[in-house]
Amino acid sequence: MSSEKIFRKACELMPGGVNSPVRAYRAVGMTPPFIDHARGSHIYDIDGNCYIDYVGSWGPMILGHAREEVVQAVKEAAARGTSYGAPTTAEVELAEMIQQAVPSMEMLRMVNSGTEAVMSAIRAARGFTGRELIVKFEGCYHGHSDGLLVKAGSGLLTENVPDSAGVPAAFAETTLIARYNDLESVRSLFERYGKRIAALIVEPVAANMGVVPPEPGFLEGLRAITRKYGAVLIFDEVITGFRLGYGGAQQYYGVIPDMTTFGKIVGGGMPMAVYGGRKDIMACVSPVGPVYQAGTLSGNPVAVAAGKAMLKLLGDDPAIYDRLEERSIRIEKAFRDAIERYQVKAVINRAGSLMSIFFTGNPVKCFEDVMTSDLDKFRQYFAAMKSCGMYIAPSQFEAFFVNDALTEEDLQMTERAIDRALSIWKE
Ligand SMILES: *Cc1c(COP(=O)(O)O)cnc(C)c1O
Repeated sequence: MSSEKIFRKACELMPGGVNSPVRAYRAVGMTPPFIDHARGSHIYDIDGNCYIDYVGSWGPMILGHAREEVVQAVKEAAARGTSYGAPTTAEVELAEMIQQAVPSMEMLRMVNSGTEAVMSAIRAARGFTGRELIVKFEGCYHGHSDGLLVKAGSGLLTENVPDSAGVPAAFAETTLIARYNDLESVRSLFERYGKRIAALIVEPVAANMGVVPPEPGFLEGLRAITRKYGAVLIFDEVITGFRLGYGGAQQYYGVIPDMTTFGKIVGGGMPMAVYGGRKDIMACVSPVGPVYQAGTLSGNPVAVAAGKAMLKLLGDDPAIYDRLEERSIRIEKAFRDAIERYQVKAVINRAGSLMSIFFTGNPVKCFEDVMTSDLDKFRQYFAAMKSCGMYIAPSQFEAFFVNDALTEEDLQMTERAIDRALSIWKE
């Protein structure tokens, strides 16, 4: 069966034929390849194509696919039972590993998705402060819970509106929207609503509007403002955690939040996420405190085993992050060289092993800048990369993820592909 054929059937059974929208390839107007298997840096579709994978399941596969240690851990755990709904030693060991990697996680809880981690962190912050409003940034993604599917209305900083049908306006009203890399926009919200703001949530490197790194001083500024007003600073490290370094973005930039959410890498590719932070805040969570949060499959033994194996690999070999940086620099350079060579109107943003090309002449520092990029050009670039065997995110608004399984041959092929893809507009 071909991807084309199975996709037609999938579309009858699931909205858009998929279980998460970006997989439908709508932004690039193609049929998504259905995946048969993946190994190391390569991903194989059911049509017999092999690609070099720069999606990595949207982040988790930082070491490449099917790492023996992780697969073995999953097999062993599954053989002992796939779920108990009861405490295990392994989850305590994983909690300790997370705390050692990220000391601000004084106390934490495991959940099943990034969405759930963020939703729970915000509830804890509201319970702790007794306040209701939260601040998020335009273009940052924090999962699909109601209060976070909110965008700026016509007057930025004032009326916010749901970013999805089905989200009550009343929920949107409790979310204030600021502009990424614009401390003034944050300050004016706090001056107006400061005493009512429970938490400010931010992706320390925005990676869901394409990659937009924080400007120097931005994260420090958020730390100072939230402290001044007694609001909880939440770093959503679902993508950056264990990726920018073993200690995540907070270690990389040296700014310590009150609470943090992790997902993606922390579960080694299994459904698992974590939220936590200051002990006084986490002590508000049930059964110790009055903030309710629970999960039948939370701390699932198979997911915990995968997460432990993944963190052990990352924690035991700090050179992984140096290699990721080197490879990412090399790929970034290939983009820059080709942009220069073919005079493409494009910019590259990069933070560690996360990067994006935006087809615009302006520097990209916030969502408004992102929106100046030429999506038609992105589509053409995507098609060219795909035909060169590159499996990249089918959307301008997602990151290019570099992994540690890439070989020298993969990198050379990637350099050639980038050169080829950016040459297509040459007269
Ligand atoms: C992916 C992501 C989420 C949501 O995680 P899910 O596991 O998809 O629910 C939340 N925040 C950030 C920053 C993410 O990248």
